Amino acid sequence: MNKKEIIEILKSNNTSEIFQKADEIRRKYCGNIVHLRALIEFSNFCKRQCLYCGINSKNIKIKRYRLSEDEIIKTAKQAANLGFKTIVLQSGEDDYFDIKKMCFIIEKIKELNVALTLSLGEKTKEEYKAYKASGADRYLLRIETTNEKLYKKMHPNADFQNRLKCLYTLKELNYETGTGIMTGLPEQSINSIADDILFFKKFNANMIGIGPFIPHPDTVMKNYPCGNFELALKTVAITRILMPNINIPATTALETLLKNGRKIALKSGANVVMPNITPNFAKENYSIYPNKQGVSANNINELENLKNEIASIGDVISKDFGTSKNFIAQKDL
Ligand code: SAM
Repeated sequence: MNKKEIIEILKSNNTSEIFQKADEIRRKYCGNIVHLRALIEFSNFCKRQCLYCGINSKNIKIKRYRLSEDEIIKTAKQAANLGFKTIVLQSGEDDYFDIKKMCFIIEKIKELNVALTLSLGEKTKEEYKAYKASGADRYLLRIETTNEKLYKKMHPNADFQNRLKCLYTLKELNYETGTGIMTGLPEQSINSIADDILFFKKFNANMIGIGPFIPHPDTVMKNYPCGNFELALKTVAITRILMPNINIPATTALETLLKNGRKIALKSGANVVMPNITPNFAKENYSIYPNKQGVSANNINELENLKNEIASIGDVISKDFGTSKNFIAQKDL
C-alpha cells in the first residue's frame, strides 16, 4: 500500500473489506491468539505539559499518587499469580523513580519469570541502558504524531526530535520497541495519519498502540471533540495489513469511545489486551482521559468476561510471553 492508497482507505466509508482483510492477516501471521498484559500505572506525577493529557503537570485538580516500590512489586506478583506473562509498568514522567529505584523494581519483577514492558516516557540513554541491563524487555513510547508542527503545539517545552531519538535509542539497545499515535487530534489531517502509518513501517516497530483522542475536562483541550472510532479502527487495520507480524493492542481508548470497541478492534487486526491491575485507590487517579473503560484484572468477573469475549471471536489466550514475531525474526537474522 502506498501513501495514496492509505489515504483513500482512511477517507473511505466502505471499509468492512479492509477490517476483514486485517483480521485474516492477523490470524495468518499471529495466530488465533490474544496476548494479555497486566498494566500497573504506578505514578501519575508527570513533569510534562502535554495539552491533551489529564495527568499533565498543569492539572492542579488531580490527586497525585505514587505506589511504593513494595506496592509495585506486590502488584506485579499478583499479576504473575493470576497467570499474566507480561507486566507493563506505566507512569507519568516522574523523576522520583531514579535509576536506582527503577532498576531495583525491574530486577525484582524479573524474578517472577515474566516479560517486562516499560512505558515511562523520555529518558536518557544511560537510563534506558540501565533498565535494559536490569532485565527490562520492552519499551512503549508513542510518537503521538509524526507531524512536527502539530507535535510542537500539543507538547509545550518538549522536542519532537528528542522523542524520535529516544525511539531509535531504544531500538539500538535491543528493546522490543513500541510506538503509536492518537487519532483525532485537532488539526491532524488524514495525510498526517498516513505519514504516521508509514513511519511505523519505516521504523520497523514491534508494537503499535493506536487510540482516539478523548478530551479531559481538566485540560485546555476540554472543548475539542473526541476522535472518531472508525478512523482509529481504520488506522489499526491498515497498520496490521502493512505490518503482519507485529503486536497491536485493542486500546482502552477504543473501548471507552464505543462499547464493544475492544472486541471490534480484535476482529480488525489487534491481538493484544492490557487488563489493568493497578490497585483501585490509585487507578481512579490515573485519569489521562475520563471514564476509562479497560478490563480490571482485580475483578475476577471482568477477567472471566474477557476470556469469554476472546473465545467468542475464535481466539485463545496466549500462554507464552507474546514476544512480537517481527522482533523474533530480527533476532534470528
Ligand atoms: N509518560 C509516558 C509517555 O509519555 O509515553 C506514558 C504515559 S502517557 C499518559 C500514555 C499515553 O496516553 C500517551 O502516549 C497518549 O497517547 C495517551 N493519552 C494521554 N492523554 C490522552 C487523551 N486525552 N486521549 C487519548 N489518549 C491519551
